[in-house]
Amino acid sequence: MGTRIIDGKTIAADLRGKVTDAVHRLRRDRGIVPGIAVVLVGVDPASEVYVRNKSKAVAESGMRAFDCKLAASTSEAELIALIAKLNADEEVSGILVQLPLPKQIDAQKIIAAIDPAKDVDGFHPVNAGRLASGLSALVPCTPMGCVILAKTVHETLAGLEAVVIGRSNIVGKPVARLLLSENATVTITHSRTNDLPSVCRRADLVIAAIGRPEMVRGDWIKPGATIIDVGINRVPGEGGKARIVGDVAYAEAMQVAGAVTPVPGGVGPMTIACLLLNTLRASCAQKGLPAPKV
Ligand code: NAD
Repeated sequence: MGTRIIDGKTIAADLRGKVTDAVHRLRRDRGIVPGIAVVLVGVDPASEVYVRNKSKAVAESGMRAFDCKLAASTSEAELIALIAKLNADEEVSGILVQLPLPKQIDAQKIIAAIDPAKDVDGFHPVNAGRLASGLSALVPCTPMGCVILAKTVHETLAGLEAVVIGRSNIVGKPVARLLLSENATVTITHSRTNDLPSVCRRADLVIAAIGRPEMVRGDWIKPGATIIDVGINRVPGEGGKARIVGDVAYAEAMQVAGAVTPVPGGVGPMTIACLLLNTLRASCAQKGLPAPKV
């Protein structure tokens, strides 16, 4: 049997379609239009592309996007003042501050200034703590996308051996917590893990969130395992043009795994779709409505 390519583009498009339908119903039945404020400080070209894509996706879903572009010289106090305004604004259901921030601004302070109910990135310590405690929370988008993709392969994740490579607050830790809440048996590995290939070989499900091009080799993979590759790495390609590869040696994985996400076109598209879902959920919760059926 061949290895299945997990088509993140199609799965994300399907989720975005469902969110768009739910947004339409919310506007029609209750006159509510969810809105997201996308805050960009400075002129990092990669961040500008991300922000543009996010705002476009928000608009396509029928939600409102409020773009807040600030100069690179913005002070921490000025940014906190903007966040306070957005927290108080009823038209703003979600607040996203694009990272990284200029060095005069402490990102942790900014994240902590966001109202946890509007924290659609799921990075606020209240949401991280609620997720860790098994309580309802706004969950980080990329980890949520990873779990949705894994569930397109496995009807249930209960009892699976899951190995997460990477322990960042953005991906590794929250994805491990989500997998635990799905009753997987979860191992979190990192740069100090001894004999990572052997640990990885135990896994029915591997989530690679490392940021090292093609580090996970084919002989690290248990035959038939599901591989979710979060990595986005720019490497030199043909003719001096950069190309994007994941954290997993894709061609090797395709020889062994049961299912693999491609890079690009796997986890990436899910992140924006989950951001839209979080914004919709946040909007409903703020208006005292039940969680939308998506
Ligand atoms: P990070 O740098 O914050 O964390 C990397 C983690 O990998 C660390 O916990 C570290 O311990 C671990 N690590 C580093 N070297 C290792 C090694 N040799 N062996 C084992 N573990 C090692 O990165 P991050 O923010 O978690 O992102 C990880 C990757 O995912 C990056 O490539 C990033 O671009 C990508 N990413 C993609 C999306 C998406 O939407 N697809 C979203 C976020 C991050």
